[in-house]
Amino acid sequence: MARYGCPGCGYVYDEATGEPREGFPAGTPWPQVPDDWACPDCAVREKLDFEGVN
Ligand SMILES: [Zn+2]
Repeated sequence: MARYGCPGCGYVYDEATGEPREGFPAGTPWPQVPDDWACPDCAVREKLDFEGVN
């Protein structure tokens, strides 16, 4: 499972936990998140802006 971080606010999407409040249950792989999905914390950055996090 991989993690992806918002470069604007530091929010991290973790595939292992998903983002249930956004409709992505635990285990939802990053490719299944729509490209126009906006960061739930800052709503400024979109998925394409996110960067891989170790
Ligand atoms: Zn953000």
